[in-house]
Amino acid sequence: MEGKINIPRGTYDILPQQSYKWHWLKDQFHLLANKYGFQEIVTPIFEAYQLFERGVGKDTDIIEKEMYRFVDRKGRSLALRPEGTASVVRSYIENHMHKDGNLTKLYYLGPMFRYDRPQKGRYRQFYQYGIELLGSKSPYYDAEVISFADHFLRNLGLKKYRLELNSIGCADCSPNYDKALIEYYQGYKPQLCNDCLKRIDSNPKRLLDCKVENCKTISHKAPSMIDYLDDDCRQDFESVCKFLDQMNVSYTVNPRIVRGLDYYNKTAFEFINTGLKTQNALLGGGRYDTLVSMLGGPDTPAIGLAGGFERLIDAMEAENLFMGSYPKPTLYFITVGEEAKNSCAKICSLFRKNDINVEFDFERNSSIKAQLKSAVKANADYALIMGEDEAHQNTINLKNLNTSEQRVISLTEIPENITELLF
Ligand code: AMP
Repeated sequence: MEGKINIPRGTYDILPQQSYKWHWLKDQFHLLANKYGFQEIVTPIFEAYQLFERGVGKDTDIIEKEMYRFVDRKGRSLALRPEGTASVVRSYIENHMHKDGNLTKLYYLGPMFRYDRPQKGRYRQFYQYGIELLGSKSPYYDAEVISFADHFLRNLGLKKYRLELNSIGCADCSPNYDKALIEYYQGYKPQLCNDCLKRIDSNPKRLLDCKVENCKTISHKAPSMIDYLDDDCRQDFESVCKFLDQMNVSYTVNPRIVRGLDYYNKTAFEFINTGLKTQNALLGGGRYDTLVSMLGGPDTPAIGLAGGFERLIDAMEAENLFMGSYPKPTLYFITVGEEAKNSCAKICSLFRKNDINVEFDFERNSSIKAQLKSAVKANADYALIMGEDEAHQNTINLKNLNTSEQRVISLTEIPENITELLF
């Protein structure tokens, strides 16, 4: 006998005790996204590797260390998607969505894959929800996307979170800031982690993003991007803040929010779970005005966000919030003897065809008392009890498990609408 096979590291099963919560959360997201005028897009779980290399950026952790990359039987280089935006933009270009000249508002839900060191809140397969708004550079939409996120979290009942906002400038003003950062960090080189040493040359803003304690402390006194914004970026940043005020969304400006991916410019934001110290980013996003053209499409400004379901569920559990309810049967069949079971097959099927949730364990041979206990445990509304006597008389006992009322139903004449028997 060969040994048992375990689940891959960094992944998890969603068991029935949890899966109903996922259903409920997905429904909440679908509903609100539709309310804001976003339509669902579903893209493949794997894409050409180059899409992410070009879209996410070569010098990012995702590309350097975290990709699930593979070659298919025909030698194509493919990758499991590490995030959703690059795929959405690929599809936007490929399906000529810019053609009608209108805004394109899309949302997605699905698994993403990153080969990272697993810990609570960080998995190798995780489930993201996201929205993307393409076709406008107006800061109004930055605020709209951010206020959508705030609305979503608030709808779920979450209270322990904070919005952190920054602008990371544009291709014109950001190089000056990079220079200032490089200068600042020169003196700290001996104290930086190896990754940060590399980042000084390749992607200095990422120095602000490092999670190593020492590097974090050094970043506190680093120059702030806000002081380096050019007029256009500054005005846009001020407008985003103004619209957020109008929308009654509170925020704090955090000049260290840079986001890990290359494609961002101007607005960058994160919603932070204030109840946690690590893996506390509930969701994040920002503007990416150059990504569409970088991937071969027309110049199209855009803004979006993405968040993970796992961290959302953890946050909701920590705040004891409602996430739908475990599905329960309306009717629970209790049978004793073969004859009773066989007689119940028909009526059970009729109830199900009339949309009534039924639990019927054909293998069960225990006492009526034991089965009644199971019916109560399953939270059923009614028990339908057929022992040997009832089977002979062609009747069944209906017991209302909430009121304990009981009555005998004759099965010789089942009404056309079988649900009448219940109410
Ligand atoms: P990112 O694309 O890295 O900005 O991530 C956006 C959001 O996705 C984060 O705020 C998390 O909620 C979630 N997320 C990212 N990476 C992981 C991961 N490895 N495991 C679980 N959730 C993740």
